[in-house]
Amino acid sequence: MRISDDRYSRERLRMELALRFLQHEARTQTIRAWTGLSDDRIRKLYRSYLSEAHRDLPRHRGKSPHQVGYFTRSLRLQQESAVLASVLSLLGVVPAGGRASGTASPGLARGELLCQAFEVYRALLPAAQISFEHAVFLATALTRGDQLRLGGCCDCGSLLVTERFPLRAARCQHCSGSAQSRG
Ligand SMILES: [Zn+2]
Repeated sequence: MRISDDRYSRERLRMELALRFLQHEARTQTIRAWTGLSDDRIRKLYRSYLSEAHRDLPRHRGKSPHQVGYFTRSLRLQQESAVLASVLSLLGVVPAGGRASGTASPGLARGELLCQAFEVYRALLPAAQISFEHAVFLATALTRGDQLRLGGCCDCGSLLVTERFPLRAARCQHCSGSAQSRG
């Protein structure tokens, strides 16, 4: 009795998390990795979600994002990445203080925190460009720590997402602007 209760509630948690991922327009392969549900279950969930929601949800196929350069591509993306990475770090989805562990894997508990972090981020920046799929990628890359890390501006210490081995000292936009005007 106990075992089947546990199994039932775990299954329900899987479905709830998958639904939350679907609402954030996650790809099937991402939902599979974080919930452990089969593609077939995810497709069925997606269809029943659509018929209940009475709306069209863009379906993203193909590969998930994998370019770390995306997060530093523009000033706007740099600022958004810093906010998102801060929330991810505060909620414990990525290791605090830039100390990458490389070990945290996808899972139900971490997936819920990831959704929570993304929802806080969207509440802070309603016009944000970074998608949920990119947020998943950022969380994974910061945890792995081999290409990206969460560091501080070398002048003022404000949080920045930087490359693992930046070619020059990382400065926030404010400080790099005042460094230029100093000549
Ligand atoms: Zn600075």
